[in-house]
Amino acid sequence: MSKILHRSIYAKLPIAVGGRGIELFDADGKAYIDASGGAAVSCIGHGHPDVLAALHAQLDKLAYAHTGFFTTEVAERLADRLVADSPDGIDYVYFVSGGSEAIEAALKMARQYFVERGESRRRHVIARRQSYHGNTLGALAVGGNEWRRAKFKPLLIETHHIAPCYAYRDRSDAESELEYGDRVAYELEAKILELGPHGVIAFVAETVVGATAGAVPPVKGYFRKVREICDRYGVLLILDEVMCGMGRTGTLHAFEQEGIVPDIMSVAKGLGGGYQPIGAVLFGRHIYNAFSSGSGFFQHGHTYMGHPMAAAAALAVQNVIREERLLDNVMRMGELLNRRLRERFDSHNHVGDVRGRGLFRAIEIVAERSNKAPFDPAQKLNAVVKREALARGLMVYPMGGTIDGARGDHVLLAPPFTVNAGQVDTIVERLGDALDAALSKSGSPINVDLLQ
Ligand SMILES: *Cc1c(COP(=O)(O)O)cnc(C)c1O
Repeated sequence: MSKILHRSIYAKLPIAVGGRGIELFDADGKAYIDASGGAAVSCIGHGHPDVLAALHAQLDKLAYAHTGFFTTEVAERLADRLVADSPDGIDYVYFVSGGSEAIEAALKMARQYFVERGESRRRHVIARRQSYHGNTLGALAVGGNEWRRAKFKPLLIETHHIAPCYAYRDRSDAESELEYGDRVAYELEAKILELGPHGVIAFVAETVVGATAGAVPPVKGYFRKVREICDRYGVLLILDEVMCGMGRTGTLHAFEQEGIVPDIMSVAKGLGGGYQPIGAVLFGRHIYNAFSSGSGFFQHGHTYMGHPMAAAAALAVQNVIREERLLDNVMRMGELLNRRLRERFDSHNHVGDVRGRGLFRAIEIVAERSNKAPFDPAQKLNAVVKREALARGLMVYPMGGTIDGARGDHVLLAPPFTVNAGQVDTIVERLGDALDAALSKSGSPINVDLLQ
């Protein structure tokens, strides 16, 4: 018996022993196409020789030096690179070891920014329902996934949630996309006014919603409106691009397609591509200046922040993306993936929506296409799809609770940026087969404990 407390105690997990390109291999020699990059992590696939070489070289030089004593060349170069590649308004970097840490740091940074400016009355954070920002208590508190929050509610800091921008479910037929976007953006203004305009620190949102709702892009104009509202009340805009960022949607940052720049943003998953745990908070000069002309330091820190091995991995991954012109491939293969998904599922009675950007796509599963009714959550259809896909050598990222944390199912796809046209075809073919197999078994009793 394993001595690890696994994610699910009763699940029988295969043992991963290797990976090359977009495939992972288990101890029985079975190959899996990693069409979700784990959880949108493995953005350049597995075993890339350049990253391995960079990691070996860094290990031979220096594995660790505490950031309270030293900086390192590799961390400095990564920060320079991230700022140089970002639009104006993203000027500084704070390194951490993952997405939840990046959100925690972003929240504290936003709060301290106002304390430095003598606005310590500001204390409220507004976020959106159906969002995921991480599992540590601060990140969980801003997250809007009811199922994940419920057990821990008594421990969570006070946060306020408004509607997501989820056009497939929430736009009425009488509304244009623009009108819908305005309506949900104005919920932010209403909430700010309700809490008192000088009481709000920040609005936190995923630019393209990831795991909780399944690659939900904002409607056109939504984030422009959000940016205007934040500016009107001096509220900081924090964008969580832990999953959708670092090239996943075809631009380095997903917000570049919205015509806005956040004050603070979080990145992680694709930053290190799974080769090392790393996350970062990226932010504007105005934030930095408040610290530099105030107390002179950000009151935060972790033992492993700016870890040289993590920085080396991230720098190498970002170099590969540039040298192999992978963002072009994200755009091209993203379009192809979208087209193939539509061909396969547009007339499927149990697929209500095909959505996403770049190589960040999802299908939303419905019991009935015409009225968008979800399947009974007790069927755990998303888990059955995951099992059927794995049986066919395909890793996808299905999740339940799409609509409100309890009802709805979707399947998220986030293949490596290196995916080619033939592999896109195979992914969609296996996903279609897995979904149909899962549906044909739905209704029959399943041991849900074994499925997570
Ligand atoms: C995964 C994720 C996080 C949390 O990142 P961890 O590295 O798992 O802590 C935060 N925000 C979003 C949008 C994510 O997808």
